[in-house]
Amino acid sequence: MKFTQLVKPATPEQALAYAKQPNTIVLGGGMWVRMQKKQFDTAIDLSALGLDTIEETADGLKIGAYVTLRQLETSPAFAAYTKDAVKTSFSPIVGVQFRNGATVGGSIFGRFGFSDVTTLFMALGATLTFVEAGEMPIASYVGGGILHDVLTYITLPKTAPDAVAVFAHRHSATDFPFVTVAAAKRGEQITVCASPVPVRPCAKTFACKDASADAFFADMPVKPNATQTAVYRDHVTRVLINRAILAVGGAPHEN
Ligand SMILES: Cc1cc2nc3c(=O)[nH]c(=O)nc-3n(C[C@H](O)[C@H](O)[C@H](O)COP(=O)(O)OP(=O)(O)OC[C@H]3O[C@@H](n4cnc5c(N)ncnc54)[C@H](O)[C@@H]3O)c2cc1C
Repeated sequence: MKFTQLVKPATPEQALAYAKQPNTIVLGGGMWVRMQKKQFDTAIDLSALGLDTIEETADGLKIGAYVTLRQLETSPAFAAYTKDAVKTSFSPIVGVQFRNGATVGGSIFGRFGFSDVTTLFMALGATLTFVEAGEMPIASYVGGGILHDVLTYITLPKTAPDAVAVFAHRHSATDFPFVTVAAAKRGEQITVCASPVPVRPCAKTFACKDASADAFFADMPVKPNATQTAVYRDHVTRVLINRAILAVGGAPHEN
């Protein structure tokens, strides 16, 4: 990626005004966009917006979009909220140096089909705040159309889950995962999110007694990707979903 000018807006509204101009790119940590072979007129640096904090507020756990994956991984508040699942989820993402750069905002805004990060936040029931579009559930954003906006915060519900489990499958350590699964149990409900690449992550909530991979895939076939058949991907994803449901206290029944 190349750009002609770098701007550092002082307010989210200024950042949005830049983002609305043609041929501009919003930068998170830049770890993904730097691999693109594109020339932009303007790159927008969000580092002066104060979006790099994790706060426990009356609404829940409020995470700035500029918080890095490593900040989250080492945050006692986020570790407590996720019952330490963040460590299992984030530690295979390349390496510490990389996670010191990649931001949670860039990870979620990118809607990557392989994302450990998006999968976890979808299972946790996050709400996203955009400068123009305002608040929306993460599932609406991930399943929706293109948005030319600036993501400012990711907020997790005040009540933390009772249990959280994450599983992913990679060809080799630090590679992109080809399946990511997360499950979070709150009371008598389990939310399951799975990301069998190339489909975007998808989350569904079930009564504990009804949660299973069969129920998850009732209306959603797994697609093949460049290296794996649909049959293989379907099998691996089902195994990981049922493991995650078991790990959070469910009892998946298979047909
Ligand atoms: C080699 C490599 C391996 C990886 N492996 C994994 C892995 O195993 N698991 C995993 O989950 N992820 C993986 N990732 C993805 C990584 O974790 C990050 O999700 C990715 O780098 C994006 O984060 P970033 O902060 O660098 O975003 P950037 O690259 O800066 O931006 C990504 C996109 O989001 C936009 N954007 C960024 N911030 C905002 C904002 N606040 N508002 C609006 N738009 C915004 C950018 O314009 C761009 O379109 C990998 C990435 C790379 C490059």
